Amino acid sequence: MSILRNYQPLHFITVKKENAYKLSVLANNSEGTLWLPNKLKNEQLSAQYYSDSLAIHLQNIWHQSQAIIFCLTVGAVVRLIAPLLKDKQNDPAIIVISPNFDSVISLAGGHQGKADKLTELIASELNTNGIITSASFAAHLPSVDTFGEIFGWHKGEGNWTSVSANITGGKQTFVRQTTGLKWWQNNLPDGHCFIFSEQIDSSKNSFDNTTEKEELPNDVFSVIDIGVEKNISCQNIPYVRWHPRVLWIGIGCERNTSFTLIESAVIEVLTKYNLACESIASLVTIDIKKDEVGILKLAQKWNLPLQTYCAEQLKDIHVPNPSTVVEKEVGTASVAEACAIKGASFSTFENNTTELIVSKQIIKSEDQKGAVTIAIAQSTLEYNPHQGQLYLIGTGPGNIEYLTNSAQMALREADVIIGYGLYIDLIKTLLRPEQIIESYSITQEKQRAQRAILLAQWGLKVAVISSGDCGIYGMAGLVLEILATENWDGKSPSVEVFSGITALQSLAAKIGSPLMHDFCAISLSDLLTPWEIIEKRIVAAASADFVTTIYNPRSKTRQEQIVKLQNIFLQYRNPNTPVAIARSIGRDDEQIILTTLGEMLNYSIDMLTTVMIGNNSTIRYKDLLITPRGYLSN
Ligand code: SAH
Repeated sequence: MSILRNYQPLHFITVKKENAYKLSVLANNSEGTLWLPNKLKNEQLSAQYYSDSLAIHLQNIWHQSQAIIFCLTVGAVVRLIAPLLKDKQNDPAIIVISPNFDSVISLAGGHQGKADKLTELIASELNTNGIITSASFAAHLPSVDTFGEIFGWHKGEGNWTSVSANITGGKQTFVRQTTGLKWWQNNLPDGHCFIFSEQIDSSKNSFDNTTEKEELPNDVFSVIDIGVEKNISCQNIPYVRWHPRVLWIGIGCERNTSFTLIESAVIEVLTKYNLACESIASLVTIDIKKDEVGILKLAQKWNLPLQTYCAEQLKDIHVPNPSTVVEKEVGTASVAEACAIKGASFSTFENNTTELIVSKQIIKSEDQKGAVTIAIAQSTLEYNPHQGQLYLIGTGPGNIEYLTNSAQMALREADVIIGYGLYIDLIKTLLRPEQIIESYSITQEKQRAQRAILLAQWGLKVAVISSGDCGIYGMAGLVLEILATENWDGKSPSVEVFSGITALQSLAAKIGSPLMHDFCAISLSDLLTPWEIIEKRIVAAASADFVTTIYNPRSKTRQEQIVKLQNIFLQYRNPNTPVAIARSIGRDDEQIILTTLGEMLNYSIDMLTTVMIGNNSTIRYKDLLITPRGYLSN
């Protein structure tokens, strides 16, 4: 199954039989729907059929689609979609696969610019070219109307078209970010056009209602504001506003308080404090109100989660306005304030801290039933509603041509890439400007795994990369082991393992067919495995005549193990047994030497090297090693 399933509902359309077969594979893998004209009904395809004209059928599925993927000529698609296109917020992404399947074209962005990303994914899956013409893509810049999505931010007001055009045109853009993670700032290309409020004199870096235009830096063409305020004046400069979800609305109310009163109370408090409703993370109340109709209705109407806590969890929270009356009634001296603070303390990730920014406000209305108390706390970490995903990826031995298509797709789809710096460099050309890259040194495996789990638990799609295969002396085992010790439920975050070509396979392919009979791999690293055990395995492999591949053969501090290994093998195998020594397989500086068991230590061997020792019947023929399976001797 493919990463494309993250983009449901997906619709695929073609009208030709030959293309329908190819497209049906893509549709099946992505759990999308393949639509075909009635005339193809007799074909053995898992598809749905339309009987009207395609133009009419398109009208029917238009609003139910995240993306529509056509395998038709571009001209036909343009004519079909022209009457239906409205705006980026509501139109589905439109993608065209050329009828001979040699390119994938991002035709119209769809909401949140999904078409570009989907085009890359489909191109990876089909192993073909993706054609993307959007300006931010060309400029290697995060696209201003999508980059906050991965953190769960909501879009606020703004002139998105002008600001996007200014940014992609390289015009200076002032960024004021007062809340939310700033990771997106870490990976901007050199010479980008952003100027951050922290970079300039702090007495002049605000642009609230009282600020004159001159107080923005000179030559600013656009403003990006990332914060909780609803209204800020940016004079006549085009601006856009993103809202990280950091506000926790604590609500207490009398039983059966009307929905209208609760909703207008929240609006009133937000307005009074100039807070944007898009910044709300969650509504929070005491558990005895979990069935309070007005609160439930507000959560539903505003599409917000509703957290509840019991009095026991709330009673010790320090609040500015405790009430003995409330304490007597419900067992905690504060509901709204304590709930807001408790909600905002939802995570300790990234040293989240909490501040009550609006103390309790009691709101009543003459013509509405009941009374509401509202308090608002702000967290420093934003609430991210996304379900985290972990992609454990083997990137193959070297350059990206050794990467599988599905691993490529997972890399493109990920929000964060975590790995050893050298391996990240090898896949750099695949990465998008929005992606967060975290490089670690070679020894920091535990840190990498723990960080990846933390980020995925918070709601990001995290790719952890290993060279070769991630489950062979790679990161997959460690990540899964840690999850298992943390009582992981198997679902959240979801985990998917993407296999890669391991060093022994890639080496074998380079030198012919040495693995045609039973073989094994042994790592000589005794950092995690005691040497006695490694030695036992070496003896077993040598004596049982396995073709044996040695990983981690020698490092600066581990010089002796490979010598001991040679001595053991010489007890069981002829010194003329063919041996291959391969360094940096699949990379630009690849080096492969064919030698013998007796001579192998005359060559340089280090941690970028894999050594393969043939069995008793392995032969060398020209520049190849061949281990006979027995076909010719039977
Ligand atoms: N997961 C990797 C193995 C990681 S252990 C895989 O499946 O291949 C690290 C060891 O793998 C290195 O010390 C070296 O022995 C071997 N190795 C990994 N990539 C290599 C390459 N491109 N060329 C040669 N050896 C490689």
